[in-house]
Order: sequence, then structure tokens, then C-alpha cells
Amino acid sequence: MSCIFCRIVAGEIPATVVAQGDRWLAFRDIDAKAPTHVLIVPREHLASLHALTGAHAMLMGEIVVAAARIAEAERLTGGFRIVANAGPDAGQSVDHIHFHVLGGRPLGWPPG
Ligand code: 5GP
Ligand code: ZN
Repeated sequence: MSCIFCRIVAGEIPATVVAQGDRWLAFRDIDAKAPTHVLIVPREHLASLHALTGAHAMLMGEIVVAAARIAEAERLTGGFRIVANAGPDAGQSVDHIHFHVLGGRPLGWPPG
């Protein structure tokens, strides 16, 4: 198994897990870009948002709700951002869907 996030889901590579559900796992980004930087990934390998179908709608909803709960747990009272990079123009660097949950400082807009 070469996918790094599949290996984290399988427990083969350590990660700091902050929350999990039957179909997703949330863990801290190894190279945090904000005081809180959590990644939420589906347990199922899906290479990017391009791979989604209607069958994944409930899972995607669960992940967004999980992001809101994680923001609460991290006390991101000033707000937070969810980012999902898809494809090279967006700078996706790991080919397994992941949602960044960022907060803890003013994040600025638009992204570069
Ligand atoms: P992308 O650039 O694809 O939107 O985001 C990939 C993210 O995965 C990056 O923020 C990067 O720091 C994070 N990342 C890459 N490898 C690992 C790893 O082995 N463990 C963890 N926890 N995060 C990783
Ligand atoms: Zn994977």
C-alpha cells in the first residue's frame, strides 16, 4: 500500500488522531500551517474530489459536520476554514481526499 493516508488509516504510520468515525479519520497535519491544522480523510481511498459520486454524499456531509465539531473541540471561537485541494492547480500533494481544518489565527483571503 503506497498511499500515505491509507497507511495512516491502517495504523501503519503514526499520526496524532483527534477524532474518528466509521468512515473517516481526523489527525493533525505533520506540517501545520496554523495553530490548529487538522486533516480529515475518508477511510476509503478516493484519489481526489474528482472521484466523488452521489454515493459519497452522506460521507462528505459527515466530514463537514466532523470539521465543525473539531473546531469546537479546538476552541476556534474566532472562526475556522475548511480547504480541500483537488488536482495540480490547487496544489493537491497527497492523492487521497483530505479536508484541511485550519484556525487559531486570522487566515486571510483569498489564498495565494
Ligand atoms: P495538500 O497539499 O494535498 O492539500 O495537503 C496535504 C497535507 O498533508 C499537507 O498539509 C502535508 O503537510 C500533510 N501531510 C503529508 N504527509 C503527511 C504525513 O505523513 N502525516 C501527516 N499527519 N500529514 C501529512
Ligand atoms: Zn489512500
